[in-house]
Formats: sequence, structure tokens, C-alpha cells
Amino acid sequence: MNAFLVREDDGFTLVDTATRAADDLLAAARSAGGQIRRIALTHGHGDHVGSLDALKEQLGSSVQVLMPELDARIHDGEKVVAGKLPGSWPKLATKPDVRLSASDRVGSLEVVSCPGHSPGHVAFLDTRDRTLLAGDVYTTYGSPAVTSHFYARFPFAAMATWDKRRDVESARILRAFDPPLLAVGHGPPLRDPAAAMDAAIARAVSRLPKDG
Ligand SMILES: [Zn+2]
Repeated sequence: MNAFLVREDDGFTLVDTATRAADDLLAAARSAGGQIRRIALTHGHGDHVGSLDALKEQLGSSVQVLMPELDARIHDGEKVVAGKLPGSWPKLATKPDVRLSASDRVGSLEVVSCPGHSPGHVAFLDTRDRTLLAGDVYTTYGSPAVTSHFYARFPFAAMATWDKRRDVESARILRAFDPPLLAVGHGPPLRDPAAAMDAAIARAVSRLPKDG
């Protein structure tokens, strides 16, 4: 489970929070010489928002919390999609200060809409070096995979995915940014990931159900 500290002039933007990791994340920011100013979430699943309340408790009003619009509404108890939502949606005491939409800016990061794994899932593109923080659209355990299909090395990502077709579509959207570095929620960061992303998309497409 990964979370990322993105350096900005005023401190750090923390992308995702993992679970039970608040103290570790605060210590990591301190030892890297800055404070966490913003917490930007790729989506609302428990393994990404799990340390949010504990972080908010310690950082108080000095931190801004940003969550994708649809996932924030789901956390607010709104029914935004038909049917049952897979994945864990734990109760959060913290309400986001900002609901993110496509093309919003979070410091140096640009918000890219990439729904499918969750209804509101977003990625963050660092406009300085085009590093892509892609959340759970891809995993990079073993050979990189799109989270739309069951992958034995990390089955949880597929089990938690809401709409497989949209997830693959989003994987293509992210591939088109041609990032030099791909950093995901689960698995190691990947340099020059283009070929691996292409292979992952091809595999995911071949495994999409033929009907519907
Ligand atoms: Zn997830």
C-alpha cells in the first residue's frame, strides 16, 4: 500500500494515506524537511483513506483535504451509482474541504479523471516532470496490470473494481500521458512504463466480458 509525499514550496501534498499509517507519514514528512499541507485522495476506498481521520486529528485546520467529487458524495451517504459498490467504504469523520473535478490543480498536480476502479477515481499528473500518480487504475506487482481483471498476485484490486470497462478506458487515458514514471497504490513505482502499460491494457481488453 503506497502513499506519496509530493514536494511543494510550502511543504508536502500527501497523495493517499494507506491504513494505520498516520504517525509514519507525519514522521516521513518531518524527516524530509516539511509539513503535510494537503491530503489529496485518488479515491475513497479504505486502504487509501484509512489514515485520514488520524492525520486530520493531528494536523487540524492546517491541512486541506481533497477527495474526488463522486467518491466524496458516496462517503457522504449519497447513492451515486446503481447497484452495489464493491470495495471498502469505511465511515470517515473527516469531510473533504475540496471535492475534486477533472483538470483541477492541487499545487503542481493536475487532476485527471479516471473512473472505473471507483466511480470518482482520479489520478494526479505532476506538471513539473509528468510523473503520474495513478492510484488503483494499475497495479505493478510482478508484471503491471489494469485493476479490471483478476490478477493472482494481487486479487484485491480487481475484486474492489466497480466498472471494468471504464477502468480499462481510464487505463488508456493515463497511458496517453506517456509518463516517464508511473506510481500506483499497490506495487513499486515504474520508470519508462509505456510498454508495460500497453501490455497491461492489451491483457485487460482480452479479459473483458464479451457481453454488455
Ligand atoms: Zn481501491
